Amino acid sequence: MLRAAALAAHSRRRARALLIAYLAAALACEAPAPPPTDQHTDHASANHAIDQLLDAWHAAAAAADERAYFDALAPDAVFIGTDARERWTKDEFYAYAHPHFVAGRGWVMRASRRALVVRGELAWFDEDLEARNLGPSRGSGVLLRGDDGAWKIKHYVLSTTIPNDDLPIVKRLLESNTRRRSPPAAPPLTGPRLKILGVAQDGGVPHASCRCERCEAARRDPSRAHMVASLALIIPTDGVDAVHLIDATPDLARQLELLPTAPARDRPGVDRHPLASIFLTHAHIGHYLGLAQLGFEVMHTSGTPVRASPRMIDFLRNNAPWQQLIRLGEIIPEPLTPEAGAQLGDVLIRPVVVPHRDEYTDTVGYRLQGPRQTVLYIPDAEPWERWSDAFDAALEGVDVALLDATFYAADELPGRPIESLGHPLVTSTIERLRGRIDRGALRVVLIHLNHTNSLLDPRSPESKSTREAGVHVAAEGEEIDL
Ligand SMILES: [Zn+2]
Ligand SMILES: [Zn+2]
Ligand SMILES: [Zn+2]
Repeated sequence: MLRAAALAAHSRRRARALLIAYLAAALACEAPAPPPTDQHTDHASANHAIDQLLDAWHAAAAAADERAYFDALAPDAVFIGTDARERWTKDEFYAYAHPHFVAGRGWVMRASRRALVVRGELAWFDEDLEARNLGPSRGSGVLLRGDDGAWKIKHYVLSTTIPNDDLPIVKRLLESNTRRRSPPAAPPLTGPRLKILGVAQDGGVPHASCRCERCEAARRDPSRAHMVASLALIIPTDGVDAVHLIDATPDLARQLELLPTAPARDRPGVDRHPLASIFLTHAHIGHYLGLAQLGFEVMHTSGTPVRASPRMIDFLRNNAPWQQLIRLGEIIPEPLTPEAGAQLGDVLIRPVVVPHRDEYTDTVGYRLQGPRQTVLYIPDAEPWERWSDAFDAALEGVDVALLDATFYAADELPGRPIESLGHPLVTSTIERLRGRIDRGALRVVLIHLNHTNSLLDPRSPESKSTREAGVHVAAEGEEIDL
């Protein structure tokens, strides 16, 4: 075996192997093909082992399983990321990834194609990746088999693929944007911040009983699924993160797992205080049904403040099953007005009245004013032109606006006239805010996407033109500084 052999011996052996292969080929003309040898079996099992190792490695990243992820890397491994500054030794890569993994933040990446070559103790491969946050991407690398027979990743290069036609645009962008080149990779945020826990409209993706291509793809591949729009407001206080939720979605149980204070991470049993408080926008199913998880049947929380408009609070007080949460002290209702708002550490959070279908309650968005940035969150709203001046007033002094992007274009729901959609189209949002975006005065983040919205596919032409307009689509796990 080659295990301890030097490179010279390797090439000698390779020459010998070629000669044997040549003789075997020559003999094959006269004799029937030989039965599979041990070498064939060896080779197949090495292929299988490496395939499994790489799949498990990606899965460990998605599960934020730090130990499994770094176990797969050789001690002297090198990881090359997509940013020019990312050529990391294992220790450097660990320093980058550790805070993400500890906070339960992995990255979702899955190989859709892999080509693998094994030669003795050495293997190399390349793979196409489905990467949720990265978009079209590819990986390649080298593995070595150790003395114990286990394969380890020695070298991995992650790259994003750019269609040749788009390269001039990317090049121009890189040349014009010095900000992207100068400072080192941003360290994880530690101050008051928002974390995006879901990006989809009330029905999520896949959408119940929908057989559209996107929903079917999300059923086959959970990395394409999306949870319902919700934010965590994280306020570090005396070294501990206080976590408030903005909207309690039907996905609340899974969304709690994305929080830095993920329940029961370090202690057994049900945590009855998983949240410092909950802010609600309105009584449509995607925005408040998650409150049911706080009830007697599940978490049976103790005195979690629930803040909402006075009308929304009345709705909770007067309707089952919500009134029982109040009666049992699981939640404490706190009406919130735009004038008073709520001061949480350095962050002032105020409701913003939003025009939207109001069959049960009125609707609010939230304006969060932190020490560094002011963020506006409006997941559900009538088209901006029906707001008269209120939309411009709501944007006053805002640095980042997370806005209703339920529908991209008018033809998304065939047979429904545009006036009946009741939401701003992304195309009109971009058109309306173009000036502020181009001046660098406003960063627009699109959220609350319906399963029909082509922005859910980062490779769609609509995604491409949205990116070119400097507008960003929200991603689960992403954080925004306050
Ligand atoms: Zn909604
Ligand atoms: Zn669908
Ligand atoms: Zn709604």
